[in-house]
Amino acid sequence: MKKKIIIAGNWKMNKTPKEAVDFLEKFLINVKDSKCKVILFAPFVDIEKCTDLIRKSNIDIKIGAQNFYWEDSGAYTGEISVPMLETIGVQTLLVGHSERRMHFMETDKDINKKVKRAVKSNSDLILCVGETLEQKNSEKGQESVMFQLKSALEDIPKSLIHKIHIAYEPAWAIGTGKTATPYESDKMCRFIRMCIEKMYGSEIGLYLNILYGGSVSEENCKNFLEMSDINGLLIGGASLQEKCFSSIVRTADSVIKGRTE
Ligand code: PEP
Repeated sequence: MKKKIIIAGNWKMNKTPKEAVDFLEKFLINVKDSKCKVILFAPFVDIEKCTDLIRKSNIDIKIGAQNFYWEDSGAYTGEISVPMLETIGVQTLLVGHSERRMHFMETDKDINKKVKRAVKSNSDLILCVGETLEQKNSEKGQESVMFQLKSALEDIPKSLIHKIHIAYEPAWAIGTGKTATPYESDKMCRFIRMCIEKMYGSEIGLYLNILYGGSVSEENCKNFLEMSDINGLLIGGASLQEKCFSSIVRTADSVIKGRTE
């Protein structure tokens, strides 16, 4: 399956605005000719500075938000809405990350509300799904991923599904240094594609972008990118160092080049 590779970095709760700008000034130079779709999920306080810098550079990198609330405004102390984020240049939204499920008790119902709000916006969306270690060990990985997909996409019509990319992120592989093997992750990505085909039809499954995430590094990224059902990577720790993240983008470009030769 030949489609644009997505390389997304998730900075989580790291980088002050100054650190974000220092990173981007180098990064924009290093990836300016990339053929990948590059997205950086920055902390809220960094977003405006990042989007300004990118706009001035004319380089096509998207800034995403790691979280948002499903209402547009109102008495929701501490929350931030999609229109607020889009005003400062956000073009992609992250939903269902396992750290939000685990540390902030986000439920599948909350995630569904966020997906419903996100698909009505101008932004596209990366929806994260993935099993826990307990589910994997009891051979319930596929079952739990299918449940997460079905709940997150409840009442999402076929006409809006093109706005959604899925990230397969086994919870036990996030920030742990442990990865699923490329074979295991490709198998789960194929299963996700099959679930989406069952829900929305085969042509949707064919065009769906599925990313792998979980302890991806400069060293192992190529192994995932060469798998047939993996169309990109969602990267936490390894997106924090500019040199490392640009090197991953360059590796993805070499995979794209290899496919076209
Ligand atoms: C993530 O934050 O989505 C992630 C995959 O983190 P890490 O690469 O650090 O495992």
